[in-house]
Amino acid sequence: MLKKIRDFIRQYINLRSLRVEILLIILVVGIVPIILMRQGMLRNYEERAVQQRTQTVQNQLKILADHLLNEDYLNNTSSQVINAELNMLSNLYDGRVQIISGNFKIVKDTYGISEGRTIISEEVIKCYLGESLSNYDAQNGYIEMTVPIIDNRTPAGTAPDAQGTFSVGQVKGVMLTSISSDSIRGTMEVMNRSALVMQYLMILFIVAVAIALSVVLTRPFERVTKAINEVQEGYTDESISVPDLAETAHIVEAFNQVQSRMKVLDDSRQEFVSNVSHELKTPLTSMKVLADSLLAQEDAPAELYREFMEDIVSEIDRENRIITDLLSLVKMDKKVGGLNISAVNINELTELILKRLRPIARRQDVELVFESIRPVVAEVDEVKMTLIMSNLVENAIKYNREHGWVKVVLDADYQVFTFEVSDSGIGIPEDSLVQIYERFYRVDKSHSREIGGTGLGLAITKSAVLMHRGTITVTSTEGEGTTFLVKIPLNYIETGV
Ligand code: ADP
Repeated sequence: MLKKIRDFIRQYINLRSLRVEILLIILVVGIVPIILMRQGMLRNYEERAVQQRTQTVQNQLKILADHLLNEDYLNNTSSQVINAELNMLSNLYDGRVQIISGNFKIVKDTYGISEGRTIISEEVIKCYLGESLSNYDAQNGYIEMTVPIIDNRTPAGTAPDAQGTFSVGQVKGVMLTSISSDSIRGTMEVMNRSALVMQYLMILFIVAVAIALSVVLTRPFERVTKAINEVQEGYTDESISVPDLAETAHIVEAFNQVQSRMKVLDDSRQEFVSNVSHELKTPLTSMKVLADSLLAQEDAPAELYREFMEDIVSEIDRENRIITDLLSLVKMDKKVGGLNISAVNINELTELILKRLRPIARRQDVELVFESIRPVVAEVDEVKMTLIMSNLVENAIKYNREHGWVKVVLDADYQVFTFEVSDSGIGIPEDSLVQIYERFYRVDKSHSREIGGTGLGLAITKSAVLMHRGTITVTSTEGEGTTFLVKIPLNYIETGV
């Protein structure tokens, strides 16, 4: 149980895991808006409540301003009615009202502390210009506002009155009021408390959903990993199937393809190994049979020894050829890195190869013709190019008829050079044409062996051609002859396809 919890936590701490990413995304997308929403809602309420409260008080102050003017309160603050109204107002809103006359003098303060003092502040001056101002101080919890006392009875633009007080237009004085915003704050606190409860409940819900979703959504990937591990550990070598999600189905499909490709490679490797063993064993078996039969005869004549020994030597040569060809093939499998590229005069190389093969052709009574259409110099690996050319010409001689011919044509355009080998030989059956490049494939096994074939020549040739990013094609008519056409780029293509 403890181990399970530990594994679970370890999995969650890995920030690069899909599960953690899903979890974090859901948490961020779910929780941040809830927190912002709560704060936005409270701020919105506060703004509206302050605005409303200010509006109400300002309206009441305006009405009061008319009463003040009617009672000539700015000059005489003894009016009981007005004083009662002012007290009521300040009690109602838990605030303070100061009445300031035209000469910036405070004529009434509901707190009774500033009466008689002069007050010159920006708000008051602005208010004298006819502007009603308000300012909310959230930190100290009050709303301050100034309302001009406007005498609508006096026409605008009159000169200062008899007392010489400074009056701007119709403004006779200013009411400077500050009211407490505690009640708004109180309501906000209550609201905030219930919003917080709601918020925590929702966060809890979102966390639960996020954990559940991150587990559910990543489970198919765990199943894929488990299935792949089972294949790796060898419980099964069947195709796996995890069809929960389209994504996992794709991964599994790709895995199955890789697996079946690996199976094909494995099969071909096994087949190759068994072919190699078989091919290497055949000469050994012949040698053993020859040696055994010599040993079985008590006093075998020397001629018989000589004859059998010659056979044994030819089997040894054969074994040698197979091993040499196999080594060439293995070298080819090392891919392009193994190429030793240089500029090679292909005409000279062909002449050299044909010169080497001419004695064999003569022995078979086969005429060897070389037609060079233009001089060719190409960037190739000389050793591998030699293998390509000599294998093709050798085959053309080997699988020929008596008094036959082999024609080699060398040509080039501005991109590739072509090396064509045609013969008047036995030809290749159509259904064998696709298989001749396979390792150890021979159309007629015993005939090929008789004439010293290993079945590896064309496999080596094709590998070498592909390493040069070239192509090899064959056309053949049984009984009439065969033509192999090799095309190799003049310039070696380093990374091209
Ligand atoms: P081998 O060592 O047997 O010649 P290769 O790989 O060179 O092996 O060739 C494979 C088979 O293709 C040969 O055994 C032969 O049957 C056939 N083949 C190759 N070249 C020719 C050709 N020019 N004419 C007829 N058959 C050919």
